Amino acid sequence: MAELPVTFRAFRVAVEEGEVYRGVQQVSLDDLPAQGEAGHVTVAVEYSALNYKDALSASGNRGVSKSYPHTPGIDAAGKVAASSDDRYEPGDEVLITGYDLGMNTPGGWAQYVRVPADWLVPMPRGLNARSAMVLGTAGFTAAIALGRLESAGVSPAAGPLVVTGASGGVGTISVALLAAAGYEVVAASGKPSAAGLLERLGADTVVGREEFGTAVERPMLTAEFGGGIDTVGGVTLANLIKRTVPDGAVAACGLVGGTELHTSVFPFILRGVALLGVDSVNVPADERLAHWRTLSALWQSARLEDVAGLVDEVGLDDLEEQLEAILQGALSGRVVVRIAD
Ligand code: NDP
Repeated sequence: MAELPVTFRAFRVAVEEGEVYRGVQQVSLDDLPAQGEAGHVTVAVEYSALNYKDALSASGNRGVSKSYPHTPGIDAAGKVAASSDDRYEPGDEVLITGYDLGMNTPGGWAQYVRVPADWLVPMPRGLNARSAMVLGTAGFTAAIALGRLESAGVSPAAGPLVVTGASGGVGTISVALLAAAGYEVVAASGKPSAAGLLERLGADTVVGREEFGTAVERPMLTAEFGGGIDTVGGVTLANLIKRTVPDGAVAACGLVGGTELHTSVFPFILRGVALLGVDSVNVPADERLAHWRTLSALWQSARLEDVAGLVDEVGLDDLEEQLEAILQGALSGRVVVRIAD
C-alpha cells in the first residue's frame, strides 16, 4: 500500500460573514481526525455521491454542518489506507454511509476520510466502490423504509405503494426496490421527463407531483394505496396518509417539500394507518449489513448498472453545477462523484 500523501484534494466549503465559498483545494492529513485514536481507519476514497443533505451542507446549512470550513460527502467508498483497528487492514474494500460522515466529520468529497472503524461496512459481495455509491445513502434509506413497511405488516396484497419525489435519489432506488420485491408501484414525480426512467426502474404508474402535492381540507380521502415511501414531507405526506388503506403504512424519510405535517388523527384511529420514521444515520452494524445485502441483490437482479438515465458520474471539479440543481429538485436519479485519479 502506497504511503499516505501529506496533502490531498478535497471539495471545501467555507462560510464567512454569511457568504458561502466553495471549491476544490489541497488539504492536509492533519485536517482529518487523529489516526492515533484507537479504532480509527483512513480510507482512500474512490467514489462518493451527491445527496440532498450534501447540498445543504455545501450551502452552509448549520442544521447539517455546524462548523466551517468543512468537507461534505455523507457517502464514501474505497480502500483502507491505514488502520488502527484489528478488523481492517490496508487494501480492504469498504463503504461508509451516515453516522457523522460529511456532517461534522470531514466527508467523502475528498481523496481521504478517517473514521471510527465501527462506521465501516466491508464491501458487500457483488458491489464495488462505484455501484455502492450509486446506491449510497439513497439506497440504504430505501432499504430501511421497505424493511419498516414490511415489519408493520405491509405486503404486495395491501395494494399499490406510492413513492413520492420519485425521480430523486431515494425515490429512484425506492421504486426499483419495491418493484423487485413484487409491489405494484405508483411513482409521483414533478418531472414528466423522468417517466421513462421510472418505468425502466419498475414503476407501474407514473403520476404528477400535484397528485399528492395539493392541500385538501378533508381529514381522509378514498383509501387506494397500501402506503408508500415519502421523500417529500408536508402536504404530500399528509395526502398519502389520507389515501392509505386500513392497516397500511407510510415510511417518511424526507423534507424537500416541507418539514411540517398537518393531519388529523382520523387515518390513524379509524384506519389503523401507521406512520413510520426512517433514520439512515444511526443504524446498528448487523442491520446495516443486512440492508447492504438486500441492496447488492437488487443491484444484480434489477441490473441497475444498465438502466439508462439512472446514474450521472461527475468529478470533484464538476460538483458546483450539480449542487444548484439538486437544491432545486431538478436532478433525476443518482449522481456519483469520482474521487480517485
Ligand atoms: P433528491 O434531491 O435526489 O430527490 C428529491 C426529489 O423530491 C426531487 O428529485 C424531486 O423529485 C422531489 N422534489 C424536490 N423538490 C420538491 C418540492 N419542493 N416539492 C415536492 N417534491 C420535490 O434528494 P434525496 O433523494 O437525496 O433525498 C430526498 C429527501 O430524503 C431529502 O429531504 C433528504 O434530506 C431525505 N433523506 C432522508 C434520509 C433519512 O435518513 N431520513 C436519508 C436520505 C435522504 P420529482 O421531481 O420526481 O418530484
